[in-house]
Amino acid sequence: MAAGELQTADVLWDLSDLASGDDQARGDWPLLVERANEFAARYRGRIDELDAAAMRLLLDEADEVGQELSRLQVYTHLRLSMDAADPDANDLATVSRDRGADVENALLFLGLEWIALDDDRAEALLASPEIEPFAHKLRVEREEKPYVLGEAEEQALNARRPAVSAWGALHDRQVATLEIPFDAGEGEQAHTISSLLSYLYRPERSLRLSAQSALLEGLQPRADVLAACYDALVGDRLGIDRLRGFTDPMQPTNMANELDGEAVEAMMSATEESYEIARRWFRAKAGLLDLDTLALADQYAPLGEARAFSWPEAVEIVDTSFDRFSPRLGEIFRACLAAGHVDAPPRAGKATGAYCTPVTKTILPYVLLNYTERLRDVTTLAHEFGHATHNVLALERQAWHSHRTGIPVAEVPSTFAQSLSDDYLLEAETDPQTRAALASDRLESAFAAIFRQTVLARFEQRSYALRMEGRALTAERLSEVWQEEQQRYYGDSLDLPDSYRVGWSYIPHFIHVRFYTYAYSFAQLVALLLYGSYRDDPEAFVPLYLEFLGRGGSASPADLLAPFGLDLRSTDTWRRAFAELDALRQNAEDLAAAAQG
Ligand SMILES: [Zn+2]
Repeated sequence: MAAGELQTADVLWDLSDLASGDDQARGDWPLLVERANEFAARYRGRIDELDAAAMRLLLDEADEVGQELSRLQVYTHLRLSMDAADPDANDLATVSRDRGADVENALLFLGLEWIALDDDRAEALLASPEIEPFAHKLRVEREEKPYVLGEAEEQALNARRPAVSAWGALHDRQVATLEIPFDAGEGEQAHTISSLLSYLYRPERSLRLSAQSALLEGLQPRADVLAACYDALVGDRLGIDRLRGFTDPMQPTNMANELDGEAVEAMMSATEESYEIARRWFRAKAGLLDLDTLALADQYAPLGEARAFSWPEAVEIVDTSFDRFSPRLGEIFRACLAAGHVDAPPRAGKATGAYCTPVTKTILPYVLLNYTERLRDVTTLAHEFGHATHNVLALERQAWHSHRTGIPVAEVPSTFAQSLSDDYLLEAETDPQTRAALASDRLESAFAAIFRQTVLARFEQRSYALRMEGRALTAERLSEVWQEEQQRYYGDSLDLPDSYRVGWSYIPHFIHVRFYTYAYSFAQLVALLLYGSYRDDPEAFVPLYLEFLGRGGSASPADLLAPFGLDLRSTDTWRRAFAELDALRQNAEDLAAAAQG
């Protein structure tokens, strides 16, 4: 691209598609609450009287209220993302939280009355053409029916929610307030967990090793309290599972993900069978770093030093790689940029990381970035626009209520989009250092998503099993299970320090959403499989893929992926994904060796 084009600093959000300003947003809230209350007054207590046509009118209206709620909530969320300390944004957030809860409470009857409907009546409605655009999500809602308790019991469970979430809050506070003294070369300073973890990506080995041991040592004094939080939550969850009639602690997560236990187990076993792929890489990486054996702290050591990527260059990479896959994807990317729906530069007070949020059927999604010209930022741009293109195509065809998928499917298009841009970049890039960095980053983030997340899910399974046997989850017991599962993964391919036993203690997913992590393994593996099909036969693949994006959340993951010939319960399906992963490993090894010349 020519010099003088748009720089990152100019790429800022324009929120006018959401609201003209805070005044309009404030003014719109009471109108929406009124509308939701009026809607509820018309329909509450009447769901069982409605025929298919009347039910469709109700669903369409609820869909409009849902989009209006989304528009106002996204506006507030984006205002806070731009500056978390802005007093006006915080005032607006208070209004948004309170009025948002009013709207949600007003609509609550809908789900309850729908679930309460008798099966014959519900089936007749679900089979009618009028309800078709909503049918899948409505069906999923009813699957909870056997596990819902009586009203008084549900109210009692709700009433104890603050006390239960206090364990999570205590865990978060213990982790967030931990300050570990560490000298990174500029004298000893207090470090947070995430700042210590960031040293693991640094080229200086002594820094990596000392940061890791400082972290593990620093966690030790809090291990007992962190274990007690986890023990209390696991015990509580198992107690409620018994009341509801769940027999497997993974079942609630699997239901939310719309995946059956058999498919999840087939995926996890195939993953464990393939640990050797990672071990081969760790052995090769030791050689590339001139070490006899890799230490755990060397796992993410950089191979190759990537050059910087200007904003116009990143835009060109994503634009071209999307466009040559399908012009429609490139078009959506450019439309979001042109509409001012991307905020790129980091600045004080702005939210960290990156995200993409859908808004409504008629407003394009918004994307937040913190673009700093690193190679990884280019990949992140592609990732977020994988989400954005999925949102736009799904919202074009589906009702608001039906567009969104669970995390396992939602992370497929984002991961697939990363592969599109990574491959384009590998083709176009001539700098051997950048090529090596790209291929090894890509491989190691796939390992982190696939292998590490599976190790974490196995740790959770074993912890729940211990608790079900009546054994308390003490720090010592958790450490034992943790280290055994880590050892099973790494084998003898790297040196696992004994101090790593406490590694379970700061991971938030265990505390907040049980078995959350396997969704990432699923998405990565499916994206690898889809990318393999694309490479083998692009002409047949592209229309199927666009159709998949357009179906949004209107079918289960198994049904969404069936047109690609993926049988999620078959171990063979998952083995094919590992053949793809192994090819990435080989490529990374070749490029890293070439960079060393
Ligand atoms: Zn994502």
